[in-house]
Amino acid sequence: MTNPVFERIAIIGIGLIGSSIARAAVEKGAVGAVSIFDANTDALARAGELGLGETHASAAEAVTDADAVFLCVPVGAMGRAGEAAAAMKAGAVLTDVGSVKGAVVADVAALAPEGVHFVPGHPIAGTEKSGPDAGFPSLFEGRWCILTPLADKGAEYDAAAERLAEFWRRLGSTVEVMTPERHDLVLAITSHLPHLIAYNICATAHDMESVTEGEVVKFSAAGFRDFTRIAASDPTMWRDVFLNNRDAVLEALGRFEDDLTALRKAIRNGDGQTLFDLFTHSRGIRQSILDAGQDTTAPNFGRDKPKG
Ligand code: NAP
Repeated sequence: MTNPVFERIAIIGIGLIGSSIARAAVEKGAVGAVSIFDANTDALARAGELGLGETHASAAEAVTDADAVFLCVPVGAMGRAGEAAAAMKAGAVLTDVGSVKGAVVADVAALAPEGVHFVPGHPIAGTEKSGPDAGFPSLFEGRWCILTPLADKGAEYDAAAERLAEFWRRLGSTVEVMTPERHDLVLAITSHLPHLIAYNICATAHDMESVTEGEVVKFSAAGFRDFTRIAASDPTMWRDVFLNNRDAVLEALGRFEDDLTALRKAIRNGDGQTLFDLFTHSRGIRQSILDAGQDTTAPNFGRDKPKG
């Protein structure tokens, strides 16, 4: 049995990501104990029923004895959740899992008291589900976890960041370090823009449903269905992502609009060669994702069948 990376961690926000961390950390022996707080009393009670850790009535109480505190709340709530850092002990690591990094650094960095090391993070793993029941211990296996440590904070800080990296590796992730700005730009195109497109295509299909008389749903397996899985993601989380990564998303959206205009022109002009070349290039991108082990060729992309 290997030693735990942290004797005790505290998780603030025990939803999909927080509860997956709790489950994985215990299963992999990465922690000795887990303290939990969630502002949602139903989620907190459910975490207790599921045996995910020791539940506390306040965030301050949950973090007091923790060697590492994970803020697992929506990006727009990070500042409020981070106020509990005032009760943390010196030498402990404060981190988060938010899908945007620049805004979280701006909201949380100043809340870490002297001796508490704030190391922002983002596990690139998730599903469209929410809440403590949705988590599972293998969520982070074979996935990336991006850390965006603050610059020039000294040797103790660097050691704390390395300990956090070791924690994520223990959960099965591969850790990559980058700046918050770089993270926000890369995620704008790989995650945020695809979600925006999925939300938008669902809105368009909904508007057209009266014209197609229910046939959008009936024939959804033709392609539309895969967008609906992404568009079923948590509305609070995604509202906060777009409000807090505005500049990078607008940059990616601008480029997307230019490319869409070019596609529209090719269709209008009957320019089959342009369409064929672009679709051929896209196949290459798909193959490179498969080669990198980031998806599977299994039926339905290896994902669960939609229920109901
Ligand atoms: P979730 O399942 O909705 O869980 C978040 C929990 O935090 C909810 O129970 C929420 O309560 C609670 N909460 C909200 N404000 C709080 C506060 N101030 N103090 C304590 N608890 C609070 O969300 P999630 O999907 O795990 O996402 C959590 C974070 O992970 C987000 O920042 C998201 O960007 C990031 N992330 C998500 C994914 C993904 O695929 N879902 C992947 C990677 C990273 P209420 O429900 O009452 O608001």
